[in-house]
Amino acid sequence: MKLQLYNDLSGNLEPFEPLEPGHVKFYTCGPTVYDYFHIGNARPFIVFDVLRRYLESKGLEVSFIQNFTDIDDKMIQRAEQMGITVRELAEKFISAYYEDADSLGIKRATYNPRATDEIASIIGLIQTLVDKGHAYPADGDVYFEVDTFPQYGKLSKQSLDDLRSGARVEVDERKRAPLDFALWKAQKPGEPAWESPWGMGRPGWHIECSAMAHHHLGDTIDIHGGGSDLMFPHHENEIAQSEAANGKLFARFWIHNEYLMIDREKMSKSIGNFFTVREVRAKYAAPVIRLFMLSAHYRSPINFSPETLDQAAHAHDRLRNGWAEIEFAMKTRPCDAVPCEPDAELREELRDALGLFDKCMQEDFNTAGAIGAVFDVIRATNVSLGHPGGIDYEIVKEAADFLRMVDEVMGIIQIGAGDRGDAETEEIESLIAEREDARRGKNFARSDEIRNILNERGIILEDTPQGTRWKRAQDGGK
Ligand code: AMP
Ligand code: ZN
Repeated sequence: MKLQLYNDLSGNLEPFEPLEPGHVKFYTCGPTVYDYFHIGNARPFIVFDVLRRYLESKGLEVSFIQNFTDIDDKMIQRAEQMGITVRELAEKFISAYYEDADSLGIKRATYNPRATDEIASIIGLIQTLVDKGHAYPADGDVYFEVDTFPQYGKLSKQSLDDLRSGARVEVDERKRAPLDFALWKAQKPGEPAWESPWGMGRPGWHIECSAMAHHHLGDTIDIHGGGSDLMFPHHENEIAQSEAANGKLFARFWIHNEYLMIDREKMSKSIGNFFTVREVRAKYAAPVIRLFMLSAHYRSPINFSPETLDQAAHAHDRLRNGWAEIEFAMKTRPCDAVPCEPDAELREELRDALGLFDKCMQEDFNTAGAIGAVFDVIRATNVSLGHPGGIDYEIVKEAADFLRMVDEVMGIIQIGAGDRGDAETEEIESLIAEREDARRGKNFARSDEIRNILNERGIILEDTPQGTRWKRAQDGGK
């Protein structure tokens, strides 16, 4: 594989190979589980899901770790507002996360560690940093001393001097310098707390990712992902903690997705301009949302609006109907029934499109370009199927295999799953079978009735010499 990824650490496009042959260690920062996640949060989840699946489609094993932040200020405040414990709050929104992520077709991580289950490794890491002189306790807190890590700023391309002069002068007397950040926070009255060498307290936010990545993936990971808002200070702090403690490079490739925007602003909880995944899923099917997310390069902003979602719904209709046509032809026009001619034009177009798909995916994961190649395949194959007579079965099958692979990686067609659930597809097909029986028995009243029932549900029937096929009217693809 010749995958090139833009590495924010080097600022360059670099060839990607895992350190350990055949095995990719991939860590990505997950949600703080104090609320339902919104469609902006879904962008990194979908983008990294597709990158992971693409690596897997190339035969690589991927250990994919995404954490749940289940203890921090927001968790504590929200639990108090709701009159439940922090643990109950976490349980509620971890379940909701799985429901929503599953509903978007996001493959489950190899493992989702929770901060509160990893307290021992977090304390161990903080102790190492204290022992090595990179961290100091103060009044039950523990701080990382940024001055002891001269490369601080290497990811976000800021020098320590600039950072120092730009830092707010804090009144916090426990810190030796304003840039120092908390690794451990002493317990405040009523807060959940764990025993530690520095007294009762809880971890700071940044330390959990360093501890979990080390615990589940080892000293050096291949890819670390997250939204671009996490680059500073969160990811910079992860690097400082991990590299100061282990003396090894923490992550070889750092990749950050740009924001999902709404009305030219970042979609965010704090601004309040967000739609939850639940709200968006009530209107649009998973492959439509995925198609929308993948229609822009992950390092460019993407605009969320009814128009952009509707465009994705139309694109999905074209994919779905194009696929249905191919599937139907393969079932009804095999070479042994009708003479087949090799279709030289289709063969050439398909070869080009397949090459283009991989080329785009391998050039820093250009999903938008790759989706263009998928449409090329659908278009060329459908033109070929329009010719009378038998089909060039071998090459049509190759197109179908390619589309199945695309669907496995991107989840944008939803082959085989039925678009609104299996049950509905089965029901449609059983009504069509009943209508065919009625027609054979010359019961045209019943056959017209079934056609009307289906029409009302947005299902269009087409009677062909090979039998009846159906497609959905263009309706937003819900
Ligand atoms: P949070 O729960 O806010 O920590 O966010 C979880 C993930 O979603 C992080 O990787 C964030 O960078 C990312 N994120 C939050 N808002 C957006 C947005 N509007 N567009 C893209 N990514 C986002
Ligand atoms: Zn993190």
